[in-house]
Amino acid sequence: MTKPIICRVALAIPLHKQFDYLIPDYIANVANIEQLVGCRVRVPFGGKRQMIGVICELNPPLDYAIDKLKKVTQLIDNSPLLSEKLWSLLRWAAFYYQHPFGDVYQQAIPTALRQGKEATFKGSEHWLLTDKQVNLDELKRAKKQHQALTVLGDLCLSTSALKNQGITRVTLKALQDKGIISPVDKQPQTNINWLESFLESDEKPILTTEQAVAITAVNQQNKTFNCFLLEGITGSGKTEVYLNIIKPILQQGKQVLLIVPEIGLTPQTVQRFQQRFNVPIYLKHSALNAREQLDTWCHAKIGSAAIVIGTRSAIFSDFKNLGLIILDEEHDASFKQQDGFRYHARDFAIKRAHLEQIPILLGSATPAFETLHNALTGRYQHLHLTERAGNAKPPSSSLINLAGLPLKSGLSPQLIELMGKHLEKGNQVILFLNRRGYAPVLMCHECGWLVKCGRCDAFYTYHKSANYLHCHHCTSTLPIPQQCDECGSTQLISTGVGTEQLEETLNQLFPQYSTVRIDRDNTRKKESFNQYLTDINNGTYKILLGTQMLAKGHHFPDVTLVALIDVDGALFCNDYRASERLAQLFTQVSGRAGRAEKRGQVLLQTHHPEHSLLQELVNSGYAEFSRHALTERKMAMLPPFSFQALLRAECENATLAESFLGLCKQVITQITVLNKIDDRLFILGPIPASMERRAGKYRFQLLLQADNRALISKTLQQALPSLDKLPEGRKVRWSIDVDPIDFV
Ligand code: ADP
Ligand code: ZN
Ligand code: ZN
Repeated sequence: MTKPIICRVALAIPLHKQFDYLIPDYIANVANIEQLVGCRVRVPFGGKRQMIGVICELNPPLDYAIDKLKKVTQLIDNSPLLSEKLWSLLRWAAFYYQHPFGDVYQQAIPTALRQGKEATFKGSEHWLLTDKQVNLDELKRAKKQHQALTVLGDLCLSTSALKNQGITRVTLKALQDKGIISPVDKQPQTNINWLESFLESDEKPILTTEQAVAITAVNQQNKTFNCFLLEGITGSGKTEVYLNIIKPILQQGKQVLLIVPEIGLTPQTVQRFQQRFNVPIYLKHSALNAREQLDTWCHAKIGSAAIVIGTRSAIFSDFKNLGLIILDEEHDASFKQQDGFRYHARDFAIKRAHLEQIPILLGSATPAFETLHNALTGRYQHLHLTERAGNAKPPSSSLINLAGLPLKSGLSPQLIELMGKHLEKGNQVILFLNRRGYAPVLMCHECGWLVKCGRCDAFYTYHKSANYLHCHHCTSTLPIPQQCDECGSTQLISTGVGTEQLEETLNQLFPQYSTVRIDRDNTRKKESFNQYLTDINNGTYKILLGTQMLAKGHHFPDVTLVALIDVDGALFCNDYRASERLAQLFTQVSGRAGRAEKRGQVLLQTHHPEHSLLQELVNSGYAEFSRHALTERKMAMLPPFSFQALLRAECENATLAESFLGLCKQVITQITVLNKIDDRLFILGPIPASMERRAGKYRFQLLLQADNRALISKTLQQALPSLDKLPEGRKVRWSIDVDPIDFV
């Protein structure tokens, strides 16, 4: 009898634990034993449930009897799904972010593979006429079917192409039942020999000197790992640099991965790359369906994707021959996943480039302090674009002191007048207000009572057109109350200004110019956001009003005036990253002004014109501000001069959440004492989160800080088994956030 094979499987569950299963003979006999680690399996888990997991180890040492083991139900792959390099990166990430490997693995693969589907192109359903003779006249009364046959004719069309013409699957099914048409599965075209038809378009600008210098620097060192920071002001032509460093990589037959922020991935972005090179480009983002995501994944893996452009999770794509990674707008907060597996795509990307021994370029007008610090200390190579490309000049910026001014929905008379001037010249204006809804609070006019969310430490936002109150923190809604809870008065008034109200005012002030509002409330569908972008570029809209969705990377040539309506809230925030964020936002929003021939102007309205941050931004700009702010971080020993991890716990019962973190602190303290690092690793807390109550739960935090990354990860690694075993941990929801960027 042969020795039974036991495999240790990682499952996507929130436990830092893996499970052992027996591989039954009928599977073992046909499997390639050397290739089992890294294969997906279907296994029974807890009762009747079946789960998909991945084999991490064979024949591990057991501490219980073999006959207790359950059997693997199905071996899904016959060789490891992921490349060795990606596999070891995911192992590293699980360790570094202290997150269960099973969940890391599942998040790294497309949904279809998570569900146990085969790792091959899904193909898509197409329809063809059969040989059956049809008399179209007989179908006259079945109008839809008649139309379907007319559209189809001699063609072979996909279900989705037919749907675009108004022909539903029901109609197709009816025709199939009559034997008139039949479905076929059509595989997508794959072209792994794209290099043979590689072609660069002639339509490209003459490079500026700075662009040429940056491009040469990268291209001379693109055969091995190098991390570059391209710090280029808005409109300086960073994309042109990307295109020029991509070219030699493609010419070597290697693939390129471009990571962009969540809403930076617009058809315009893709078009620019498509127009330059005659190579296959595939996208990876959350609006694709499972089938499309799997197709992109397969194209990258077999090499038929020359370029993959995607958002955060595209960093986990498996490539046949990856040659370069570019991270655009590298400071963007969307690169950090904020729940579950809390990885940072930038850090993962750098680790990946290092392991793959390929170059990586981070591009931004407003580099994150972490990145900037690494560039200034020489760990990354620092490339600069300090001038706008073409004839565009940087915008001029100034402050408007709001003190005592009569405001119309937050607009000062000066701003209104200036808007009029810019609009009269046929230009566009952007107004930026990071507060959606009609008004941030509803208040009793008699006694001052404010309508507060019952589940959060927050007020309800008033949404006028939808006619309800909405909590932006727990998403609960409430009909508009008829009277005050405290005094019974029926005089409830809204205070403060949101984008919905500002839009109303703009329509009254400037009825002759059309206004468009861009915020999450009216761009829920991806297509509507893209449609707005197109219409803005067409000049359909003259006044663009939006939240930070408008700040990112968009190129609007006719915008000459940008105004920030109200940023005062961010000036007095106790999160040490608030000023960095505000500076980035200010600079990015300002960057939308004057990007073409026309000079731009930026106005910032504030009640605190003397505030040093605002003064610095308006007078010197981000580059100077960031260097100065970095020295302050250094004096305070805050990141990037130290490293942090945050333990969070939340529970309906405040005491439970707080005392659980108290126990965590004891465990961690003991470990630091044992390791003699208690003077280097500081533990702060437990303290309430800045929003102590959210969605009915009380939230507490415990902060670890050290001057060395490894101290934190090793300590957490040692503490985790004990933390996992704390019975109190089962009563609360808790998590670890390594390198946190958000303390709300
Ligand atoms: P960034 O991403 O740095 O904000 P873009 O890459 O979007 O800037 O470039 C801004 C504009 O300048 C684009 O319209 C681009 O086509 C143009 N541009 C880039 N490089 C040059 C150049 N060397 N000469 C003329 N125009 C350029
Ligand atoms: Zn009242
Ligand atoms: Zn709420």
